[in-house]
Amino acid sequence: MARRIDTYLQDLVPEDKFAFYEAVRDFSDAEVAPHLLSWEREHRLVPDSCIKAMGDMGLFGLPIAEQYGGQGGDHLDLCLMGLALGYHSQSVAVTPGAALSLGAKPVQLCGSEAQKKAHLPALARGERMFVFGLSEPGRGSDAANPQVTAVKKGDRWVINGEKCWSTNAHWASHVVVHALTAPNAPNGRRSTCFIVPMQQQGVFYQEMKGKKAWEQSSTGSIMFENVEVPHDAILGTENDGFKVMVTTLNGGRLFVASLALASLAFALDKCRVYAEERIQFDDKPIGRFQRVQDVIVDMDIALERGLTWLVHCCRRYEENKLTREQAAKIKVDCSRTASDLMLLAMEICGGVACFDEFGLIRHHNDLFVTRVGEGSNFALKDLIVRPLRQA
Ligand SMILES: Cc1cc2nc3c(=O)[nH]c(=O)nc-3n(C[C@H](O)[C@H](O)[C@H](O)COP(=O)(O)OP(=O)(O)OC[C@H]3O[C@@H](n4cnc5c(N)ncnc54)[C@H](O)[C@@H]3O)c2cc1C
Repeated sequence: MARRIDTYLQDLVPEDKFAFYEAVRDFSDAEVAPHLLSWEREHRLVPDSCIKAMGDMGLFGLPIAEQYGGQGGDHLDLCLMGLALGYHSQSVAVTPGAALSLGAKPVQLCGSEAQKKAHLPALARGERMFVFGLSEPGRGSDAANPQVTAVKKGDRWVINGEKCWSTNAHWASHVVVHALTAPNAPNGRRSTCFIVPMQQQGVFYQEMKGKKAWEQSSTGSIMFENVEVPHDAILGTENDGFKVMVTTLNGGRLFVASLALASLAFALDKCRVYAEERIQFDDKPIGRFQRVQDVIVDMDIALERGLTWLVHCCRRYEENKLTREQAAKIKVDCSRTASDLMLLAMEICGGVACFDEFGLIRHHNDLFVTRVGEGSNFALKDLIVRPLRQA
């Protein structure tokens, strides 16, 4: 059966990009899908062998420039990877996805030439992984005012506090820490970003246990106890750390939208096949019921609309024209629409949708993360409403 998402992407993206999508899709079908259930039941993170295989395919270097050892691709390539891997597992997709869109991206956007040369080649090979240290136990949506502090001591900085929800922490070589450096400065100018090696003395990592979404993705807490870093560990400029973080999140939100659409694409194919196979009343398939058809058609419409919008936003992103509101809007809409439809999709499949091996419950749980991750949808609406309030 041809996947509905393939039909749309074939029309929407150039031939070479579609060929790339197909290669990642085939990898995901062969190397991820058959193992997912056992990884889940054994509560395993994405195995190192899978990460290595994705590294060998060049996925960790996708949008990194060739001069720094990457594939020289663009943001659309990154989102196509999200669509291809996320069809089976958002956890697997987010591993290279976050490594790039949250880990390598701040270095690409705001790093000095020396930082780019020092880190990007190893990041592109998948030998190093950066994590994005924005969220804290006491600072989620209110991220502009971190409780993690960095205090100047001669020509060094001393960092203290705790970050949490750090995706990929288990494999991380470095964390980009967003820390308070100028408490009395205006909002948005109080913080600085630092590149801190995970092996640095005083850095402690702990995996956050009990998470029932993105189960194969590593999510960690990272503690900093009097961690000393040199001045050149600053990423971007002093007291402009929030700008580094929000600029990074623009691209990250497009990637999250791709994950939501990947789950929607999976559910659509699953439901339309199931609706033709499941026989109830008069030996006929449930797909003849108009209510069942309604759900399937709504999923199809949402998928085509979302993919078209995503390709458009990726183009705007590459042209440096995508506004923060536009990036927020597509993330809000794709995550909300896909998760709302997922519940209906499960309902039309009936009781069988409860089972892990059926696949929908995994996507249902993972879609929750797309609603709160990289800015909760409700908080992002604060941003989206701004241009609407101008006279
Ligand atoms: C699996 C996972 C992975 C993550 N990975 C990372 C990562 O790699 N790096 C990182 O830094 N963070 C990461 N995060 C954190 C994520 O970005 C935060 O969860 C998110 O920003 C929301 O913060 P919070 O959970 O503290 O919710 P809170 O800020 O406590 O908000 C809770 C709720 O309050 C409401 N609310 C809050 N503020 C507003 C507002 N202004 N307007 C209206 N309503 C509002 C909303 O309903 C919101 O959902 C991850 C989260 C998850 C679940």
